[in-house]
Amino acid sequence: MNDCLFCKIIDGEIPSKKVYEDEHIYVFEDIAPKAPVHVLVVPRKHIRSLKEASSEDKELLAHIQLTIPKIAQQLGLDAGFRTVLNTEKGGGQEVFHIHYHILGGGPMPFA
Ligand code: 5GP
Ligand code: ZN
Repeated sequence: MNDCLFCKIIDGEIPSKKVYEDEHIYVFEDIAPKAPVHVLVVPRKHIRSLKEASSEDKELLAHIQLTIPKIAQQLGLDAGFRTVLNTEKGGGQEVFHIHYHILGGGPMPFA
């Protein structure tokens, strides 16, 4: 999608601090971290929000969730972590390309 911030980050048009990538997802540091460790897990496929995901995205969403613990381990979050998925304006979503936040590395609660 042309006008999407996260599509531009995935394409390298906008710089980011990559922490992990594979065929399906791109993971990078949040620009305004709300925890000592705060990264965003973004599928390469542009999906506006969880509300817009369909059954054809089932394997992609499963892949994201099952890869998150591996990313957390890579980031040293051995004690655990929080995963956040904001959906649409009422859920606090600001960037309309579906993404999971991974937060950790300090005492809870985080935003
Ligand atoms: P949302 O509120 O949509 O769930 O989360 C969007 C997140 O994207 C926010 O935590 C915000 O700090 C982060 N963000 C916004 N713009 C940029 C950017 O240009 N680069 C990076 N790395 N993160 C961004
Ligand atoms: Zn996008």
